Amino acid sequence: MSITSIKGMNDLLPGDVETWQYLEEQARQVFGAFGYREIRVPVVEKTDLFCRSIGETTDIVEKEMYTFSDKGGTSMTLRPEGTAPVMRAFIQHKLYAKDPVSKLYYLGPMFRHERPQKGRYRQFHQIGAEVVGIDDPKIDAQVLAMLSHYFATTKIPDVALQINSLGCPECRPTYREALTKFLEQRLSALCADCQRRYTSNPLRVLDCKVPGCKEATIEAPAMLDNLCIGCDTHFNQVKEHLDELSVDYTVNPRMVRGLDYYTRTTFEMVTSSLGAQNAVAAGGRYNGLISDLGGPDLPGIGFAIGLERLALMLGEQSIAPPRPELFIATLGEAATKAGFALLTRLQRQGFLAEMEYTGKSLKAQLRRADKLKTRRVLILGEDELARGIAQLRYMDKSFQEEVALEGLETRLINEINGETNDA
Ligand code: ATP
Ligand code: MG
Repeated sequence: MSITSIKGMNDLLPGDVETWQYLEEQARQVFGAFGYREIRVPVVEKTDLFCRSIGETTDIVEKEMYTFSDKGGTSMTLRPEGTAPVMRAFIQHKLYAKDPVSKLYYLGPMFRHERPQKGRYRQFHQIGAEVVGIDDPKIDAQVLAMLSHYFATTKIPDVALQINSLGCPECRPTYREALTKFLEQRLSALCADCQRRYTSNPLRVLDCKVPGCKEATIEAPAMLDNLCIGCDTHFNQVKEHLDELSVDYTVNPRMVRGLDYYTRTTFEMVTSSLGAQNAVAAGGRYNGLISDLGGPDLPGIGFAIGLERLALMLGEQSIAPPRPELFIATLGEAATKAGFALLTRLQRQGFLAEMEYTGKSLKAQLRRADKLKTRRVLILGEDELARGIAQLRYMDKSFQEEVALEGLETRLINEINGETNDA
């Protein structure tokens, strides 16, 4: 039996990969203009990093991590998200000593052991951005402006920005208590997961998708009504700046993020076109994370975009392979040698050229040239080679002429360059 890929981990084939390259290039451009620089971190980290940052009682740490011991007995985890590893690197390499503000972006695979379905996989990809060092609400607004701009420039249809504030260690505990009291009265109406969350992580109950839980919590107190003065002012200023920058958003007081490290501003980009998988990007401020991980007490904010969901939203437009400029069809050993040399010279100069390598009939070679949608075919036989000529056929124009082999390479290159300049 042949070996297949692991469930929930996808191959990306030519034809689809071009959409991904487009999404990645746009991110590099947009993020670059906003002053972000790329950082690359390993896909495996010590398990402790994720337990300490994401939180022991979150879905990710409780049930979604790929954790294993390596041969030396160290517990390792395939990264389920990018912020913790990036902050680990930020602290380890003391990036804060080089610049008081760091704007970083990353791009790559993440791993979560979830039930695979449309828009939800076990290996998936994120593009994320982080700003460390500034607590000013202008930065929250700018991060959101950049995220919205990315969705606008990539022409992702049907997305909306939702924002909320999750408060800080000063105001959240009081709110948590009020919420717990509220939930206590309605425990029997909650699903089994939420009855557990009620003690471990009551805010997550507000985020539960089960209809009964939604109904039971309609009148639950909202974090937004219980913010301390500092958090309240911060949130109001974020909204003002968003208005100044003409960024559209709605406030969703029930939005709770699935990672513990968030403080103050949190947000999601949501869509109605992907069913239950309605979040295409998400993030927030994490002012305590860097110090929790043993670094200096610096504020941070960031987001991650799910690439699979973006690609789904752009639709299944498989992109055709590029057309060869030249296909070299040869007959006889000497002609094949000469053709192979010309082919390689053209490729070295950056032109897409092809030939048949295994000495098939002329008819079979032309069939292949046709299949590749080649623009020109050069037909080179022994006789022609001896006379220093070849037949050059223009496939789009159904036109063929005899050409001298001498100077042919320059002629072709000039012709192709001329066409690209005209286009
Ligand atoms: P969800 O509520 O859909 O599980 P999440 O809150 O777990 O999302 P985050 O951890 O905030 O997601 O990750 C940010 C983005 O990464 C999501 O908005 C989504 O686009 C994408 N994402 C998260 N998990 C997956 C997955 N298993 N497969 C594909 N994309 C994912
Ligand atoms: Mg999730």
